[in-house]
Amino acid sequence: MGIMAVLRRLERRTRPVDPEYASVLQRRWAELPEHVKTPGQFLGRHAVGCEGTHGVFPKCNLACTPCYHSRDANRVRIDGAHTLAEVDKQMALLRRLRGPRAHAQLIGGEVTLLSPDDHAATLLTMRRYGREPMSMSHGDFDSDYLERLALDEQGRPRLRRLSFAGHFDMFMFGRRGIPRPGSERELNPYRQRFVDMFKDLRAKHGVRSFLAHNMTVTPANLGQVADLVRDCHAMGFGMFSFQPAAFVGDNRRWHENYEQVGMDQVWREIEKGAGTTLDYTVIQHGDLRCNRAAYGFYVGSRWHPFLSGDDPRDLDARAAFFRYLGEVNFAGVELADLLGKLVRAVVRHPVILKLAVQWLARLVRRVGGVPALLRHGVRPVSFVVHQFMDAADVAPAWELMQRGEPASDPRILATQERLASCHYAMAHPETGELVPACVQHSVLDPVENVELRKLLPIVNIADVRAS
Ligand code: SF4
Repeated sequence: MGIMAVLRRLERRTRPVDPEYASVLQRRWAELPEHVKTPGQFLGRHAVGCEGTHGVFPKCNLACTPCYHSRDANRVRIDGAHTLAEVDKQMALLRRLRGPRAHAQLIGGEVTLLSPDDHAATLLTMRRYGREPMSMSHGDFDSDYLERLALDEQGRPRLRRLSFAGHFDMFMFGRRGIPRPGSERELNPYRQRFVDMFKDLRAKHGVRSFLAHNMTVTPANLGQVADLVRDCHAMGFGMFSFQPAAFVGDNRRWHENYEQVGMDQVWREIEKGAGTTLDYTVIQHGDLRCNRAAYGFYVGSRWHPFLSGDDPRDLDARAAFFRYLGEVNFAGVELADLLGKLVRAVVRHPVILKLAVQWLARLVRRVGGVPALLRHGVRPVSFVVHQFMDAADVAPAWELMQRGEPASDPRILATQERLASCHYAMAHPETGELVPACVQHSVLDPVENVELRKLLPIVNIADVRAS
């Protein structure tokens, strides 16, 4: 490669703002409902939102109560070729409609029922479309699977970094070693084992990872959320994400009154566990009735936010971040390229440096100064709650939205407002549409899985032999 070609490549990789990314962000902002255009809104300012796959491997080998999959999901065969082809089409549509960069979940039933090769090929396909993929798993797999996923036949990394969300809660039945957990705490050794597999992978092969911990919350485990946070915050998860249960999916698995658990109750329990209040308005993803998040880090046993909602100077720093760096993409960018982008942004707007130094100084003071940092180190940990809606509300709300009609029933109108600000989209290449994940699970999954059952039937070998 000639010197000019190298310089052109370097210039492209470190360009702070990709004009296409900037224009999809502007469009996203313009399309958001007014009620979510708050000073902390991330959508349309720094991100287009999260994406997820559907209809690619709906089967799972644990049984959860509740489960948001439809009753036919477990009657669909896992098929790597189908997964790859469908993910390719879905990512192509997301790339076309939502631009060059986004976080996307490889989600269905259980992702590790895919062979390691098919799983790796699917992740690479998602990356090819500029998606930063996260594999959604129950975490009940072995380090052998993880190594075969991350490494090629010669034992060299084919994936240099992995993102996994491990879902652990006491309503998941059939986990090896603990088929019917009696409490959340009994699962802690399994949570630790999950994290340790990734630590070993990094130590042995240099493959980096980001791990999230997912957990369904119902009246039966709400009171254990605080202890979960206290017990597990230092295990190695970078995010704790809680999903209050909703009446969606297979109704044979609805065993409690989930309406008793809402955002506020779960958030209060997380705060108890973190030992501090968590301001979920500083950074907002869509509608606060759907998503709450607090970004920060632990120094020792104390959690601190990156930005304090109580400090007007931090809120000014947030506004400056959106103004100067909002359109700079951070997702899936190599560190060297990111540094290059930041340096070029600072050259263009030197005030960034002054604001960053002031913010960093405030942060260091807040956590107890440099000695505290040196003594305890820093562990970034974020808290998230995502509350799906009940299928009984989503179905009529979506039907009216398809006709362009606002609902007269206040509950259905609230559902429409949330769907219109949705943070979590799924792609339908056959229609060219994107739909909120709530609509996918409440309205479209049941029909889709009936079709998938015909396309990918599970063949009973004993029946075949008998015939
Ligand atoms: S999937 Fe549903 S609950 Fe989640 S952000 Fe979208 S509308 Fe809200």
